[in-house]
Amino acid sequence: MSPIIESADVVVIGGGPGGSTTATLLAKRGHRVVLLEKETFPRYQIGESLLPSTVHGIGRMLGVTEELEKAAFTVKRGGSFRWGTNPVPWNFLFAVAPELSGPTSTAYQVERMKFDDILLRNAARTGVDVRENSPVTEVVSDDERVRGVRYTDPDGAEHEIRATFVVDASGNRSRVHQNVGGERLYSDFFQNIALFGYFTGGKRLPAPDSGNILCAAFDEGWIWYIPLSDELTSVGVVIAREHAAKLQGDQEQAMRGFLDRCEIVKDMLADATRVTEGVYGEIRTRKDYSYTNSTFHRPGMVLVGDAACFIDPVFSTGVHLATYAGLLAARSINTVLAGESTEERVFAEFEGRYRREYRVFYEFLSAFYDMQSNEESYFWKARKVTNFNATDLEAFVSLVGGVHSGEQAFTNADQLVGGFRESSGALADAVERTGAMDTETGDKMHHLFGTPVVREVMAEMNNVQVRGVLGEQARELPLLEDGLVPSADGLAWTEAK
Ligand code: FAD
Repeated sequence: MSPIIESADVVVIGGGPGGSTTATLLAKRGHRVVLLEKETFPRYQIGESLLPSTVHGIGRMLGVTEELEKAAFTVKRGGSFRWGTNPVPWNFLFAVAPELSGPTSTAYQVERMKFDDILLRNAARTGVDVRENSPVTEVVSDDERVRGVRYTDPDGAEHEIRATFVVDASGNRSRVHQNVGGERLYSDFFQNIALFGYFTGGKRLPAPDSGNILCAAFDEGWIWYIPLSDELTSVGVVIAREHAAKLQGDQEQAMRGFLDRCEIVKDMLADATRVTEGVYGEIRTRKDYSYTNSTFHRPGMVLVGDAACFIDPVFSTGVHLATYAGLLAARSINTVLAGESTEERVFAEFEGRYRREYRVFYEFLSAFYDMQSNEESYFWKARKVTNFNATDLEAFVSLVGGVHSGEQAFTNADQLVGGFRESSGALADAVERTGAMDTETGDKMHHLFGTPVVREVMAEMNNVQVRGVLGEQARELPLLEDGLVPSADGLAWTEAK
């Protein structure tokens, strides 16, 4: 039987954070967007620890800030690490970075079932035609470009939607990405396997860091410990592929063995019980998740989120990269549909910015895996890869806060106008307010905040962001050579003047 034919401006495949972000930001410009999702939401997904850029930057652009607040997710002020040669756990706080100061200096730990559902329902409210239980089975193309998709509806009927653009945000395990051509290049460095489950009754870090993600290294890898609520904790073990044999057989036993070898996590879980029923009742494994596609775009089609690339769970960059890519893709498509630039030009901007963000995190995370180093060398590496003319510590926190891209949308410009305009005078106060690090590095950081270079960097960042709040002169500078800049509403690209 021939398929039912329909048309749209854009078809988005996948209703995860990448797909919902892209679809919503396209619908805000009035385009006809159909989002096809193979599951019925809410559905399970891993990737629960978020960065401030997603919560406050993208969340604000999507219009879900209040809904996220109402969901009462665990507030995450930063991360706690038992890593490197230092046996004492150390913290970083998002609030140390000047761009992140103020009320936007936190993120959330989320149950992805709830978080992704909020984003998808919001997309529908914004005007996206969301169709669940509707797997895409084929991408329709000719020699020139991608022309649409075929999918099966919940009653089993075949549909074909013809569209000017197809966005593949179908995640890690779908094969749809193959339609852009190129290859999926797996990382030589990150070849890890994750084994994860859920516990009730686990301990919490002392306040005010009780919402932090705890990452603890042990001989064969590291463990994440994410407080999802007062009761529920997500616990995952990440090990190098050469230890895969240890996962054969009983998964529960394998997991218990790893957890017992990591003193700090063993102690946190001393009175805890593993959840064995419902959606959190399984022990799951994931592997082969660190890759990048050799191309992210072909005429008529673009890859967003895990469909394009992912690095590694450490430092919680997955949802940030997926939603950042969604923003970049929506700007690119909005610009072409408005007839304001060519597909070639806007997708060069898309791919350039996206790869830049990916590359910086990739380099930094590679350095982080050098467990023989102490934390000083991570700071140093962060500085090196970001090319920031900033102190090591600021560069480090900016990077792990997801604001390294320089996107104004990710930072709290209003707050900066009010809070840090007088940056030189505010430096010492900022240290007092944030509380800084609660380890022996705290003193060192206090000293760093007092240096002239930090003052300059803070002042310049403030200037850029204040201009953003004030409109016209607020235009962002291009990030790439001869690159484009965001339009005034942030939903498209425009030539830099
Ligand atoms: P997804 O969230 O995977 O969404 C894709 C959607 O597409 C799914 O809903 C799927 O059902 C749908 N789909 C698939 N095929 C089709 C089809 N043919 N038709 C229609 N729909 C389809 N990230 C973090 O930010 N923080 C973390 O703490 C973190 N921890 C992680 C731990 C591990 C072990 C791993 C492997 C990853 C982790 N991540 C983390 C990464 C995070 O899971 C992903 O980066 C994120 O989910 C990507 O979002 P997405 O929208 O691209 O894809």
